[in-house]
Amino acid sequence: VKSQDLASVFLGGIPVPKSRDVSRVLVLGGDRVGVELAERLASEGLQVVLLGEPGPTMQNRNVVHEPYTALEELRGYVGGFEAVLKTADGPLTERVGYVVAAGPARIVPKFAEYGLSEGERVLSLTDLEARLAAGATVHARQGNWAHVALLCGLVGEVEPALFRRIVQALEELATMDKVQTYVFCSNVKVAEAGLERRYRESRDRGTIYFKLDEAAVLEQSPEGVTMLFRDPLLGEEMELVPDLLVVDESLFPPASLSPLLATMPSAPAFAPFLGPESLRFPGVETPRAGFYAVGPSRGVYSPELIAADVETVVTRLTEAFAFQRESEKGEESPRTVHTSVAFVSGSSLPGPPHVDEARCVMCLTCVRLCPHGAMSFVLRAEADPESCVRCGICAAECPMQAITLAPRNEEEDLCRKVETELARGGAAKRIVGFLCSRSAVDAWNFCEPEVKRHVVPIPVPCAGSVAVSSIMRAFRQGAAAVLVAGCFKGNCASIYGSALAEQRAAETGRILETAGFFPGRVVFVPCASNNVGGLIWAVRDLEESLQLVEVKA
Ligand code: SF4
Ligand code: SF4
Repeated sequence: VKSQDLASVFLGGIPVPKSRDVSRVLVLGGDRVGVELAERLASEGLQVVLLGEPGPTMQNRNVVHEPYTALEELRGYVGGFEAVLKTADGPLTERVGYVVAAGPARIVPKFAEYGLSEGERVLSLTDLEARLAAGATVHARQGNWAHVALLCGLVGEVEPALFRRIVQALEELATMDKVQTYVFCSNVKVAEAGLERRYRESRDRGTIYFKLDEAAVLEQSPEGVTMLFRDPLLGEEMELVPDLLVVDESLFPPASLSPLLATMPSAPAFAPFLGPESLRFPGVETPRAGFYAVGPSRGVYSPELIAADVETVVTRLTEAFAFQRESEKGEESPRTVHTSVAFVSGSSLPGPPHVDEARCVMCLTCVRLCPHGAMSFVLRAEADPESCVRCGICAAECPMQAITLAPRNEEEDLCRKVETELARGGAAKRIVGFLCSRSAVDAWNFCEPEVKRHVVPIPVPCAGSVAVSSIMRAFRQGAAAVLVAGCFKGNCASIYGSALAEQRAAETGRILETAGFFPGRVVFVPCASNNVGGLIWAVRDLEESLQLVEVKA
């Protein structure tokens, strides 16, 4: 297989853009949120390519809404994406600077999960909402009262957004004459503004809630559904034949996320959503520069949070656009238009990776492993400086050691630093501590001098940037033990940087053991900026095993 063919699997094979334009934005919308976002951005002067129904009121000439039906493929980088969009007449390519995933959740009723089929007396929640909106009423088959039962998470998860819709439907049913409502649930989630109050009000109005401990039996016949269940409060077997049974629904991320996830090698670690659930990616941020996730694209369904997402994206994109216009007028010197992950404040991070073409064997390891989708291979391996967060994972994993982070010879610099610091520390400093600049450096600064007395601290951009060769070299330079400290795994800004660091520590331990040394001389320690406990215990353990301190009985 030609290396270029392989590259297209990961990146679609377009080179790092020579110039960037953030004035055009692709909004993957499809409902009210996408349309609102498109209009807000367009009114700020940005050109918006909207994938989704524009709606009858959309007049803004800055919104391009050809009848696009799907995003087929996305290539390139922030400020220079190429989006291949499907139309009835074939694919069209649009060039955009940013991509915002703002599509609605895919809603799938749980008929199959309950062993039911849709029918006149068995509806999905969406169908019920449509009928209520159309002014339909519920009729009793027998007697004066109509009985409506709503299922709410008897199987699967229930988002607060789904329970809010159920409460809304109960409120509308309560306006009808002689309708008795029941909710069958396992747990309800009310973690949304005002939802608990509305839930209590529905009970006060007469809705009966059954929180079932055991599964209900649902027997469907042409006449409707017979529900057999055990009331947990009375401890009695009960039967209900509702006039209408409403089935709840599962929420899935928008289908339009797939082409975006395909551009991020780290996506399997956090899919199906576009961003990891981590403090490193607050709100709409994603690991990929130029991608933003709104609402269901990041697993958020509350209207308040979605509105806040829209606000954040409008602010970020208009700021970048304003900056571009200032730069074009020559009033500002050019600078980065976007950085996806906040760099470590105050630390001197290296520059973007440099690939030594003479060493590169085109194995594409760097392309496959870059968590931020910043590495491309078009004729040669190259990192997009706007998308790269300088984590150093590519350099640590390149089998040919062809990648260095500027300043060039970073590996050499790191080793020289270790050597110099070990020499400066003399006999007392025997432990080399590679400290992630995003977490461990801060934790280290909180430690008491007593903890630091035997350790040479070496800040690194990410624990994942410390190669096995760097650890082994530290031993050759005189270290008695090596400690690699990085973020907790779910909180690593480079997604799997900490996991790689832990693997490499274990691998180095096995090498030491094979050579006849104690494998515990190299350890990985997960920590957070405000959590010094792990670091302290790891240092103490190493000191004891090296007999640098007296072990008290
Ligand atoms: S990992 Fe190293 S050898 Fe492989 S493609 Fe990247 S730069 Fe070349
Ligand atoms: S340094 Fe990190 S973000 Fe930059 S190209 Fe290498 S792996 Fe990707």
